[in-house]
Amino acid sequence: MNVSIDQLLAVSQARHSHLCPRQVLGVRIGLAGFAALEQEPHTAGKNVLVILETDGCFADGVESATGCTVGHRTLRVEDYGKIAAVFVEVPSGKAVRVSPQINVRSKAVSYAVEAHNSYQAMLQAYRTMPEADLLDVRPVSLTTPIETLISQAGLRAVCERCGEEIINEREVALGGQVLCRACGGLPYYAYVPQSRR
Ligand SMILES: [Zn+2]
Ligand SMILES: [Zn+2]
Repeated sequence: MNVSIDQLLAVSQARHSHLCPRQVLGVRIGLAGFAALEQEPHTAGKNVLVILETDGCFADGVESATGCTVGHRTLRVEDYGKIAAVFVEVPSGKAVRVSPQINVRSKAVSYAVEAHNSYQAMLQAYRTMPEADLLDVRPVSLTTPIETLISQAGLRAVCERCGEEIINEREVALGGQVLCRACGGLPYYAYVPQSRR
């Protein structure tokens, strides 16, 4: 498939209701990650897992470029608050991290001298800058095995404390018990006590 950056940006813009520099970076980073793994965007199926380091506009760009989605279990967010993504080949675990070069904002100005302001400069320059000037693409190894990250879909367990069902091997073993992550001590929420009426 040979789709231009402008076509991919049109897709991203349509789902996002505006076009912004972060979506452009998302498209460029998505394409660069797939190229580094020698995979074809939108047709790689579950052969690639993308881990985004932020959500928002950037995520729409990456999704538009790659076809990877949360719904297909080919995309997830590790929220580090960074415009960057790791692309993992499945099942080999070979991976690359793609991020904008540190000084990319100031570089953008020199690629779009006719732009009215730095926002417009980024919007224009991020489309056209050569990848070698725009992005860093570096091999990485995952600290969690790829099988654990993806897990086996369809498996079920039941938390021995709250009784809720846990899918996709996300249970934890603690003190001889099978627990969900919330009961196992890693909750991101706490129930608010309800007053009795
Ligand atoms: Zn945006
Ligand atoms: Zn539980």
